[in-house]
Amino acid sequence: LDNVFIEALPVLNKLNSAGFEAYFVGGSVRDALLNHEVNDVDIATSAFPNEVKKLFKKTIDVGIEHGTVLVLSGEHSYEITTFRTESTYQDFRRPDSVTFVRSLKEDLKRRDFTINALAMDGDGVIHDYFNGKEDLNSRLIKAVGIPDERFNEDALRMLRATRFAAQLDFEIDRHTTEAIKKHAALLSHIAIERIQIEFIKMLLGKSKNKGLLYFIKTNLYAYCPGLDKQGLEGLISIEKPFENEIQIWVSYLMCSTLMPTEVRGFLRSWKLSNKNIQDIETVYMTAHERLHKQISKETIYKVGKRLSLETENVLALLKYDSNRRLVEKFYNDLPIYSKKDLAISGKDLLKLTDQKAGIWLGDLLDRVEQAVLDQEIENDYSQILKWITANQLIPKQK
Ligand code: ATP
Ligand code: MG
Repeated sequence: LDNVFIEALPVLNKLNSAGFEAYFVGGSVRDALLNHEVNDVDIATSAFPNEVKKLFKKTIDVGIEHGTVLVLSGEHSYEITTFRTESTYQDFRRPDSVTFVRSLKEDLKRRDFTINALAMDGDGVIHDYFNGKEDLNSRLIKAVGIPDERFNEDALRMLRATRFAAQLDFEIDRHTTEAIKKHAALLSHIAIERIQIEFIKMLLGKSKNKGLLYFIKTNLYAYCPGLDKQGLEGLISIEKPFENEIQIWVSYLMCSTLMPTEVRGFLRSWKLSNKNIQDIETVYMTAHERLHKQISKETIYKVGKRLSLETENVLALLKYDSNRRLVEKFYNDLPIYSKKDLAISGKDLLKLTDQKAGIWLGDLLDRVEQAVLDQEIENDYSQILKWITANQLIPKQK
């Protein structure tokens, strides 16, 4: 039994002692059997949420309408979810109501894939009603039950199949693949936020190309906003795994048929955060600039170290010339990193004149900044003052 399970055992035991069934379920069991690192362990139980809350001192209602209670135990917290079935599916999305049941098998039946429908009890015994272990061994992603039905219930599962293929380097079972092909269009009923999460998890997977090939072959991509084959094939041609979202989106944009003017709308349609959109646009524009321009100190100053390095990363992924070390060197050699670093401030400048603060002051600071960056002068109070006076840049001396 993996350490993360042993740490969680007291929680299982407490439920058991009170007469309830309780199991580790889902991704943690799958990952443990694959000898992968196990992150968060989820627990399923026959106890109803109010019964769970009575048993544990510290609980948080994180999704009580779905039967999930967060139990705080020592330094850890565990999501404990009551066995449930999802009876009413509307519009091919998650169910809007669930029914609590007392049977493990019923609970496992509503799960997406056989490898995710395994449960493990406190003795380490695996409860496998849907041949999940066999599919783990054959490295197969197979829907629990009839694939057509399962994807009609929740269309996101189709995308999750490609995500798990990419993360685990598994194939998708033939019948499951056929069903995805048939129902791909149902993906358009799913909120883009949920699609985005699975899409990014797929591309961060160690076998992203396996996922991408299914994603294209089953036509799922056609029901995601603005994706074109050329961009996706560009991603396939990248050999190294992606390290983060910025690399993914910029690489995609560099390969796709999207025009630069369409980029913002595209990123917005994926409902990325404003911060992400800004970073992605910056790296995208800097990478374009770098295709016909050497690395420049000006750009590094403007863009900052993190995004300048990310630009070089993307260029490297796409097999263009890149030079992270030169970026590091240029960055370290910069005399200042922002206006705030200037040895003279707006306040200092105001003391030298009768003029009130105004546009002139910002302009003057800009010129000082440029002179320091161009190493015309050093970032030194008296040198800057001398330079300002010599060039008669102060409006009216006191
Ligand atoms: P990860 O390591 O990415 O967290 P995971 O298998 O734990 O992988 P989650 O999205 O955290 O994936 O879901 C936990 C479990 O809940 C899954 O293993 C599966 O049993 C079930 N599950 C999650 N989403 C769905 C869904 N859309 N339909 C059916 N079952 C689902
Ligand atoms: Mg999980």
